[in-house]
Amino acid sequence: MLKSKLAACLVPYVPGEQPKGGNAIKLNTNENPYPPSPKAVEAIAAYDFSKLRLYPDPTADSLREAIAGAEGVRIENVFVGNGSDEVLSLAFAAFFDASSHPVLFPDVTYSFYKVFCSLYGITYEEISVRDDFTVNVSDYLGRKISGIVLANPNAPTALSLGGDAFRALAEAYPDNVIIADEAYVDFSSLPSLVPLTKEYKNLLAVKTFSKSRSLAGGRIGYAIGDAELIKTLRSVKDCFNSYTVDSLSAVAAREAVLDVGYFSECIEKIKSARSYAADELKSLGFVVTDSDANFLFVRHEKKSGKELQSALRSRGIIVRRFDSPRIADYLRITVGTHDEMKALVSALKELRL
Ligand code: PMP
Repeated sequence: MLKSKLAACLVPYVPGEQPKGGNAIKLNTNENPYPPSPKAVEAIAAYDFSKLRLYPDPTADSLREAIAGAEGVRIENVFVGNGSDEVLSLAFAAFFDASSHPVLFPDVTYSFYKVFCSLYGITYEEISVRDDFTVNVSDYLGRKISGIVLANPNAPTALSLGGDAFRALAEAYPDNVIIADEAYVDFSSLPSLVPLTKEYKNLLAVKTFSKSRSLAGGRIGYAIGDAELIKTLRSVKDCFNSYTVDSLSAVAAREAVLDVGYFSECIEKIKSARSYAADELKSLGFVVTDSDANFLFVRHEKKSGKELQSALRSRGIIVRRFDSPRIADYLRITVGTHDEMKALVSALKELRL
């Protein structure tokens, strides 16, 4: 067999479809409907391409410095990588052991966590969320663990936990790392946990430029935490690939993070489209969780998730559905522009639910 035993038993994560061509309304991968900051685009246009001859800065200091400024931390508290998927993957390798004690995460959450565990041989336990998809923090306490990972807001449920929950976990397990995956936090009504990372040396916040900063194609993610955690992440990264962040993306991301005005403008537009779409869907009889993210998690009792997804697809709207227990009848619908949300609502009205 021309594969390792490991490769033979891996079940990879399946990313959402990226259609080639066509003019479908794409609401399936939680991308931002607005372009990146014009300053990021200008920075790429002004880039001296002869510099592409050279390797990038292995620690992307200029980008880390800008992120540190925006997040109110020091540069030694920032780690950057090729998308937050890579940052998370390196964090699993850096902080979790293939021991008898499991890493805990919810049964309904980002499905990549299980894949990272299988890649590194890490034992995990999925803790059931309540019927309303909320996470019960006390289920995570009083255990022997290797670590905890919570997406906050969670995906695909779009629900958030408050800072107190993370305080309780960080205090309960001072010798284990607690990862808060904050991919969607910029759309949340609750603040980021970054300030808590100064208090708790075992709390790591992971964020991305893919959603709120419109740079999914640039592949930039980052982690904020105690300098010791960041050093460990860097040493694991340097056992894998010294140059995970390319020169062009680093330049664009730096400008994007500095352009606070554009960022807030886009976030406000998305939040407004979210509340419009959530209200309209509720009036069509959908159950809609109280979204703190740039997507809605919805179901309708009159049609299965599969039927709804294909009915939308035949009307040129692509949404995401996960064929897994508990959530197969739900759709995860990215919040797009106001016009895209209007198109979604009209398409759903045609179904006469
Ligand atoms: N975390 C969560 C919860 C996500 O939904 C995603 C997007 N699929 C990611 C992390 C990864 O995002 P990226 O690699 O684009 O930064």
